Amino acid sequence: MNKDNLHILVTGGTGYIGSHVVVELLDQGHTVEIVDNLINSQIEVLDKIEQITNQRPVFHEVDLLDSSALNQVFDHSHFDLVIHFAGLKAVAESIEQPLKYYDNNITGALNLLQSMQSHDVKQLIFSSSATVYGDQGIEQCVETLPTGIKLTNPYGKTKYMIEEILKDLCVADPEFNIIALRYFNPVGNHVSGLLGENPNGIPNNLMPYIMKVAAGELPELHIFGNDYETPDGTCLRDYIHVVDLARGHLAAIRGLKPGFTAYNLGTGRPTSVLEMVTAFEQVSGQPLSHSFAPRRPGDLPKLYADPSKAERDLNWHAELTIEDAIRDILTFINHK
Ligand code: NAD
Ligand code: UDP
Repeated sequence: MNKDNLHILVTGGTGYIGSHVVVELLDQGHTVEIVDNLINSQIEVLDKIEQITNQRPVFHEVDLLDSSALNQVFDHSHFDLVIHFAGLKAVAESIEQPLKYYDNNITGALNLLQSMQSHDVKQLIFSSSATVYGDQGIEQCVETLPTGIKLTNPYGKTKYMIEEILKDLCVADPEFNIIALRYFNPVGNHVSGLLGENPNGIPNNLMPYIMKVAAGELPELHIFGNDYETPDGTCLRDYIHVVDLARGHLAAIRGLKPGFTAYNLGTGRPTSVLEMVTAFEQVSGQPLSHSFAPRRPGDLPKLYADPSKAERDLNWHAELTIEDAIRDILTFINHK
């Protein structure tokens, strides 16, 4: 496969990570079509993508659960490869509504794989998550670790289960080339401030919560736990700029090979919640109201990537810092 000008289907391409990947793909000269049902994104994202790249991807408002509509997308165009972002991702909601999550994420993935196989499209990059490593008491995760250990929520289990399905598919059909990218904690947005993460309601994740406090929409950040066995007592995570993450997908396209392969996409650098607050205050020049609250059930004290496999095989590593992410977030907040 010549990898220079590919025709790529991006599911979930109007979402937070997908939209950033679409920008990078268009900038590299690929042709992009998007499938999204807009359950967690807005159609206006297409205008922003066009503003940044001067190109507008073809958009199909299709639910992956609608297999006949999905097949029609594949009937209409021949894709060289698929990047699969579409899925529901709210951990707490997945505990409350497991069937919704299993249906949307697993059935959606199965429908996609069936359409791909029946249309002879056999190159796939899948959005997986560091959550597949579960709780095995290991802080720096490497791809040789087992997965699926003590997973605490249905969302994480869907990522694990889809990876297992992909492995089985590669055994049964050796023509498939599949990469699962295990994201650590994506943060930040495109430098233009036109794209970004903007959840409705009260966010669950740290950075969207900080953004709402900085924008004056929420009074203060509650830091969940300051008595962990970490240098400052707050949890450590691996925050990766979403543009670095997006570029990891371009590297993965170049690195596709027969069978199933998983790569961590992270920086390898742990940052505590308090360090993130301090960095935000330094870059913004404003204090960020915060207080300590009890631990959040299910949180691991320390989780960060060993990203050396992606560096070795894909020649990719993260280049941007959390300060870059915060600067870009401030541009995004000012654009809203
Ligand atoms: P997002 O919610 O912004 O994007 C997902 C997109 O998928 C949305 O536009 C949504 O409308 C669409 N979608 C959901 N179900 C669909 C369906 N049945 N049919 C069609 N479209 C559907 O989320 P994101 O943060 O961009 O995440 C993208 C992917 O990366 C997800 O699979 C997520 O689980 C995974 N991931 C995200 C993170 C993170 O912290 N953001 C971390 C690890 C993995
Ligand atoms: N966190 C916090 N307050 C919040 C949201 C998150 O203190 O309002 C902490 C959380 O306990 C964790 C870190 O920030 O230690 C990252 O949380 P997030 O939900 O963003 O990512 P995940 O836990 O899934 O890695």
